[in-house]
Amino acid sequence: MKKNLLGVHCSIAGGAEKAFAEAEGLGINCFQIFTKNQRQWKEKEFTAEERARFRRAWEASEVDVVFSHASYLINLAAAEPERHQRAVNALAGELRRCAQLGLSYVVLHPGFAREQSRPDAIRRIAEGLHAAVAAAGEGTAMVLLENMAGQGSSIGTNIEEIKTLMDLTADIQHRIGFCLDTCHAFAAGYDIRTKGGIEDLLARIDRLIGLDRMKAIHLNDSKGGLGSHLDRHWHIGEGQIGEVPFRYLMRRFPAVPKVIETPKKDDWDARNLRRLRSFIEA
Ligand SMILES: [Zn+2]
Ligand SMILES: [Zn+2]
Repeated sequence: MKKNLLGVHCSIAGGAEKAFAEAEGLGINCFQIFTKNQRQWKEKEFTAEERARFRRAWEASEVDVVFSHASYLINLAAAEPERHQRAVNALAGELRRCAQLGLSYVVLHPGFAREQSRPDAIRRIAEGLHAAVAAAGEGTAMVLLENMAGQGSSIGTNIEEIKTLMDLTADIQHRIGFCLDTCHAFAAGYDIRTKGGIEDLLARIDRLIGLDRMKAIHLNDSKGGLGSHLDRHWHIGEGQIGEVPFRYLMRRFPAVPKVIETPKKDDWDARNLRRLRSFIEA
């Protein structure tokens, strides 16, 4: 069988290389990590020793792809100059840490408009992406803009906004990609419960931004209903979405890294993975 890239969000508690032990236990070939505490601004660099340990653990593993998820605190849409600069610095730091560990992508929530108009917020985010990518330098990771559920004033709730962000960063196109989150798409109002529904969304992504720019997928079912704007991830096939789009995505995109970000309690990661793998078995 052709290799199908599937994994989970792994913890780096106790050292970044610890994620590979979790990956081995789950038998996965890709995973996502936070490179630092995602709820704090405090910056961090990996020492030469930490980088070496990470690389060694990676080489000894069956893992092909590792990428990061940026801190939830980063809001590139921030209008206020100091807050904007802090977000830019944090994203640049994330890109540098990814380079230190050899990660190709960082998934980013585009930002929150707050008191600004959405077009103003989108322009601000594009400025921030330019600044962060320039500060981090060439040869560092690609930023994957994630579609959002539409909670509060979040930008990227529809594919059109992601497209606008990509148009505004066309000059650094090789540094900007897309990460599809199924829970967010459903909560935002894309009815992906049927094969026709997920195909429609993918056709829209292809038409507006190009499926080749979709470098990662977050496979999450949704506790919230269609168009609820609730960002509540749930176990595969057990939420409001159901199995259909997950089977479809598993079969259509073997080479795109797909990770679950579902509640990890008990053995749920293993159970969700088993269910997803069953979709590609004859
Ligand atoms: Zn996310
Ligand atoms: Zn996600």
